[in-house]
Amino acid sequence: MTDDPGAASTAADAAKVRVCAHIDELADVLLATSHDIHAHPELCYEEHHAHQVLTDVLDQQGLAPVRGAYGMATAFEARAGSEGPEVAVLCEYDALPGIGHACGHNIIAAAGLGAGLAGAAVAEDLGGRLRIIGTPAEEGGGGKIRLIEEGAFEGLAAALMVHPSGSEVERITSLAVQQFRVVYRGSAAHAAAAPEQGINALDGVVLGYVNVAALRQHIAPDERLHGIIVDGGQKANIVPQRAEALWYARSPTRARLEVLKQRLQRCIEAGAAAAGCAVEHEWVEPSYDDVLDSRLVLDRYLANARSLGRDPRPDSEVAIVGSTDLGNLSYLVPSIHPMIKAAPDEVGIHTLDFAAFAGGPQGDRAVLDGAKAMAMTLVDCWTEPGLLDSAAAELAAARGGA
Ligand SMILES: [Zn+2]
Ligand SMILES: [Zn+2]
Repeated sequence: MTDDPGAASTAADAAKVRVCAHIDELADVLLATSHDIHAHPELCYEEHHAHQVLTDVLDQQGLAPVRGAYGMATAFEARAGSEGPEVAVLCEYDALPGIGHACGHNIIAAAGLGAGLAGAAVAEDLGGRLRIIGTPAEEGGGGKIRLIEEGAFEGLAAALMVHPSGSEVERITSLAVQQFRVVYRGSAAHAAAAPEQGINALDGVVLGYVNVAALRQHIAPDERLHGIIVDGGQKANIVPQRAEALWYARSPTRARLEVLKQRLQRCIEAGAAAAGCAVEHEWVEPSYDDVLDSRLVLDRYLANARSLGRDPRPDSEVAIVGSTDLGNLSYLVPSIHPMIKAAPDEVGIHTLDFAAFAGGPQGDRAVLDGAKAMAMTLVDCWTEPGLLDSAAAELAAARGGA
């Protein structure tokens, strides 16, 4: 560190050249890792192969990872650097049922691995500390939320990850989301011989569904309510005594989600009241918060990505809407979740086409560029005076407003 900004930027530039060269040297290992995880898709909390592959590479590269970290069999952690601000690089590696790595988490894992290994090699010289964290179960399991509860992110000054998509976009247009499970209970009767003796639980579901359908015209255009009937009875000549529905409520912020949840719940309860049946409901934990991107750290990432020839577009131009458990972390630690192009524009994530691209040449370029852009952002975090303090203040202000 130095008081001379010119010398500091020269040192940072030299370190950026170094981390990028390191990632080029590791390219074969990183791409083999991406392809291996891609070829062995595993569902949330079952990512044993990916956990093995990633921790083996960390081990071979001398980083002595903790396997099964924080009491989770498929989480891991490796650390580097002995003093200075600590920044995390996150690896996700779970896949989707039936469509494999259609969210491209093999790319997230390999890019995080590359950024982590390159960052670890310069951390001591730059006076920074690094945590490489393997975060299981993003697709519905809320792995990062369990890791938050276990203290995995305590003391961090920032957290970085990249997510692949068809378009190069600065950030995900994230929605806070929570699931709502509803069980209606009536009483069975013969539907022809004695229908007047029955209390129809399916009517409760249907009337609740219709209430929500009416409500949808009067919610904000950036909010979502969508549900399915999980159980609608067993036989058409029996008045259903039990019925079940599952709903998702999504809203741009967790504060607004709380309001939307109450409106959904009233629709459901009114359906049960009209049908005369009892209703039990549960807001399923964990809920995913919206992502409060650290604009300051993200701007450094974007400049670094542009230096590699990429051109992330603002989310006001291209919106990729989704929800992620990084949202919960982003309320605690300044975080970024840029979307890196790994497929043609028209190919959306969670499709079989995207899964094919995630293991192909465009996916490979996203691994290497994502690793370099994040590694250079680590350099910025460790060398730019005041950046991380400003990011902490920025988060405090955003949290106050959210
Ligand atoms: Zn996904
Ligand atoms: Zn994903």
